[in-house]
Amino acid sequence: MNHNWRASLFRRLALLLSACLLLGLLSGEYAWALVLGLAGYLLWNLRQLLRLQQWLNTRQGDETPPDGYGLWGEIFDSIYHLQRRDQKVRGRLQAVIDRVQESTAALKDAVIMLDRDGNLQWWNLAAEKLLGLKTPQDSGQQITNLVRDPRFIEYFEGSHYSEPLELPSPVSDRLRLQFQVTQYGNQEHLMLVRDITRLHQLEQMRKDFVANVSHELRTPLTVIAGYLETLLDNVDDVKPRWLRALQQMQQQGVRMQNLLNDLLLLAKLEATDYPSDNQPVNIYDMLQTIQHDAQAFSGKRQHQISLSADPSLKLKGSEAELRSAFSNLVFNAVKYTPDLGEIHVRWWGDAQGAHLSVQDTGLGIEEKHLPRLTERFYRVDSSRASNTGGTGLGLAIVKHVLLRHRATLQVTSRLGSGSTFSCHFASSQVVQPSE
Ligand code: ADP
Repeated sequence: MNHNWRASLFRRLALLLSACLLLGLLSGEYAWALVLGLAGYLLWNLRQLLRLQQWLNTRQGDETPPDGYGLWGEIFDSIYHLQRRDQKVRGRLQAVIDRVQESTAALKDAVIMLDRDGNLQWWNLAAEKLLGLKTPQDSGQQITNLVRDPRFIEYFEGSHYSEPLELPSPVSDRLRLQFQVTQYGNQEHLMLVRDITRLHQLEQMRKDFVANVSHELRTPLTVIAGYLETLLDNVDDVKPRWLRALQQMQQQGVRMQNLLNDLLLLAKLEATDYPSDNQPVNIYDMLQTIQHDAQAFSGKRQHQISLSADPSLKLKGSEAELRSAFSNLVFNAVKYTPDLGEIHVRWWGDAQGAHLSVQDTGLGIEEKHLPRLTERFYRVDSSRASNTGGTGLGLAIVKHVLLRHRATLQVTSRLGSGSTFSCHFASSQVVQPSE
């Protein structure tokens, strides 16, 4: 092929030159004949160039190129083949994109692609159903304008996506959604949204069941505890061999009552995401009372409980819940620190927010237990716990209260050399002097 057009080009040029020579021979004007021949050749080339340009401009779809001769024909064909190949590659790419889009469209989970500023770029059909996104009006919109829940905005802008977020759907309160954001490429976001309504309902049933059982058990237990107390108040009428049994029954009764109270408190904490009473709480006064109560609880064990707290630093939240969380931490320190041990409670503020720490010189906790400490009924050592009469729910309550007050719990501990439980509250939770 290559040789063909090369040979024909040379043949053509040789023919042109021969014709010019012949014309020169006949007319005796060699120079003019050559000029004439070359001008003709130039004009012919220009015409081919114009045809090419016209074809490229007016070409529609798969239209074949005009016929060309020699080198020009070759150029027309090469361009045409290049274009055909490009079209095929594009077609194949489009098919792949179509398949990916079709398969993600068929997903039950919503898939949403956002740029680095959180503007919507692409989403599948499920996103329209679960979040109410509209095609194409919402394209380029900020996701935080469409999902307006403050918890979502905080989660999205916080850029800490290790844990998913659960929220009701903006379309319907009955739908419960789980949001999971991943960053990729140039800080773009891929957001997956799952419908977890069924899971949420099951979880709700479990919570309701525990709350109902705890509630129902309270009345019979109060009656039994009441009779036991009456019996023990009249010790003289009780046969001596029953005395110890009755005392033990009363002790266990108190334990069960504590357990039910803790279970009910947990159920109450789980029922809503935020405390209903978001009032300024004077933590300094609260800690003083807790210190006093803890000293009384320590009694003959004579722990040294010290407090250094900022009297002006107040928190927004529920006083009852915070009291319950903080006293759990301080009472735990008393329970798990040997007699005469030291416990130091600190309350201070800085640029990050407000912090409470309870440090003890107690038994300490092995590192492997730390991640599971806030699980319900998780105990480091069951024999240790039954001696102290704990319910195993204390730290679960602490975790829930902190979660509701935008705070986190941090535990540092070494076996044999004491533990420090710290609560870190976000600045938004601190009462500012102007408020
Ligand atoms: P409990 O009612 O058993 O105290 P918690 O949920 O309050 O339940 O605590 C869970 C476990 O964590 C406890 O059983 C105990 O082993 C461990 N723990 C909690 N606080 C301390 C502490 N200050 N020092 C050592 N261990 C602790």
